[in-house]
Amino acid sequence: MASVRIGFGYDVHRLVKGRDLWLGGIKIDSPLGLLGHSDADVLIHALCDALLGAANSRDIGYHFPDTDPKYKGADSKLLLAEVIKILKEKGYKVGNADITVCAEEPKLNPHIPSMVECLSEIMGVGKDDVSVKATTTEKLGFTGRKEGISAYAVALIEKI
Ligand code: MG
Repeated sequence: MASVRIGFGYDVHRLVKGRDLWLGGIKIDSPLGLLGHSDADVLIHALCDALLGAANSRDIGYHFPDTDPKYKGADSKLLLAEVIKILKEKGYKVGNADITVCAEEPKLNPHIPSMVECLSEIMGVGKDDVSVKATTTEKLGFTGRKEGISAYAVALIEKI
């Protein structure tokens, strides 16, 4: 495999009442949370898929199936740590990652520095190597109607 590789990831989770909202490893105050088998951290899931894609190592559902009771309510930070291990076994480390979250609310900008700190620590990179961006979709589509949150991620990995 080449010494530098790129990967892309995308994920969506439904917003519901009665769940905590976890994004980028941070718990955010919100009347609605994301529904999922794990903690449903859509940002981390997209990032995991970008990293796995870069290493051509399948996807998050392949490694952590939502039919496995082991992953019920799982902290996605642990899944990201597992993904880093998978990359390491293939001889790769993270170069940088750029993630965009689409959510009508809550406002995510105040939480971005904590997300970057959390994600960079898990991935073993500097804070400057992790970019988290937030956007609304101008009230259009399922994210605009606050039915869910989506996230896109690209990541570079480098040969160790
Ligand atoms: Mg997911």
